[in-house]
Amino acid sequence: MSLLVNQVTKEYPTRGPAPLTVLRGVNLQLERGEAVAIMGPSGSGKSTLLHILGTLDRPTRGTVTLEGINPFQLPESELAAFRNARIGFIFQDHHLLPQCSVLENVLIPTLVNRSTQPAETEAYARDLLARVGLAARLDHRPAELSGGERQRVAIARALVLKPILLLADEPTGNLDRSNAQAVGELLVQLQEQERNMLVVVTHSSELAKLFARRYDMNDGVLEARK
Ligand code: ADP
Ligand code: MG
Repeated sequence: MSLLVNQVTKEYPTRGPAPLTVLRGVNLQLERGEAVAIMGPSGSGKSTLLHILGTLDRPTRGTVTLEGINPFQLPESELAAFRNARIGFIFQDHHLLPQCSVLENVLIPTLVNRSTQPAETEAYARDLLARVGLAARLDHRPAELSGGERQRVAIARALVLKPILLLADEPTGNLDRSNAQAVGELLVQLQEQERNMLVVVTHSSELAKLFARRYDMNDGVLEARK
């Protein structure tokens, strides 16, 4: 199993005697090449789960194993390198750097990870940008792009280090309907090409419909949709 989430619980301390329980014994298993969508009301714990899968936050109890490694057992210094090399993030907001070009934005994750040759990395970034339909926009600044185009850049940036796990939190939440559909289809298509694992959190049933495996999150409980 490439991603194994076992009985993950997340609690936040409160001023009162009882902690706030946000995730209640979440289980999820994914093999390489699989994708899932998670739906659920606001406040149900979806982003908290994605943060834990992305090693940005720690579970209170339970374990996460990615390709046989429990990232939370790594020292902090190794955890950052682990995250950078294996996990890609796409958020609702694109988080592109306004002063950088499209190509530079896609290359940003590679500035930390120097395991590959710069020329090779740049060729791959150009290839990804062509695959998301932005070959003619390499020198544009984010402000010169449409919302859908900016999110396509964010997808290329998330993929540039060939992550085994791609996490997307409401990736189409800020887009109009037709751009949302196009970006959703692009995400699924790239995941199929790259054979990585994809976990998408969404409010959109149209986006969720693109995934064969769907889950519902309700008050911290994750359940497969029948
Ligand atoms: P969703 O993404 O499904 O809308 P979240 O995972 O963001 O939900 O939040 C789930 C619950 O956890 C919410 O009630 C939220 O207020 C609470 N929560 C999230 N982060 C923290 C935190 N750092 N400290 C305390 N409570 C938090
Ligand atoms: Mg959220």
